[in-house]
Amino acid sequence: MSQDHDDHHHDGGLHDGHHHEHGSSHKHGSDLSEMQLRVRALETVLTEKGYVDPAALDLIIEAYETRIGPHNGARAIARAWADLSFKRTLLDDATAAVASLGVTGRVGDHLVAVENTPQVHNMVVCTLCSCYPWEVLGLPPTWYKSAPYRSRAVIDPRGVLADFGVTLPASTDIRVWDSTAETRFMVVPLRPAGTEGWSEQKLAQLVTRDCMIGTGVAKSVAALAAEVAP
Ligand code: FE
Repeated sequence: MSQDHDDHHHDGGLHDGHHHEHGSSHKHGSDLSEMQLRVRALETVLTEKGYVDPAALDLIIEAYETRIGPHNGARAIARAWADLSFKRTLLDDATAAVASLGVTGRVGDHLVAVENTPQVHNMVVCTLCSCYPWEVLGLPPTWYKSAPYRSRAVIDPRGVLADFGVTLPASTDIRVWDSTAETRFMVVPLRPAGTEGWSEQKLAQLVTRDCMIGTGVAKSVAALAAEVAP
């Protein structure tokens, strides 16, 4: 792939610096403290120059840690399961559908929802960096940004799924969606069996972050019951 990294920039605001480093020697995990130092140094310089207000930065970070998170995506999925017309809207224009739930965040980005069926399982990756639908899924997990996930998701999606403990029938096709600056994806997982008549609130408890990335499936009714009453 010869695309220049700068053409692929996206997401804005909250990026850790490693976003621009795509070299094979880049190690995840070991450079976190160095990265934190760099972020802090940058924040200090920008604050001293009057470009950013540290209180505003804290508010943004708090928003991503609390208000903005996978519970927003779970609400959208639960509604799609319970309400066929909402599901059509979500698959047709996920940006608008999610906005209609009152989810605020990166308005203006192009969000696409892709639906799992018994025949097709969808999985999302950003092969170049870590484009991710922050407004519905919150902060991306570390593995999503890792080089092994980014490369293997495309080459061996079934193997990656196995690593995540997911085994699909051999007859199920796996479709991998490569996120970009402009277009980011969320997966609409299969609705678990035995959930007929459930409220949206209850359905949302079955929706995990990973099942909306496609590295997982929604919780089963039994799994949820085991969590609630261990
Ligand atoms: Fe990216």
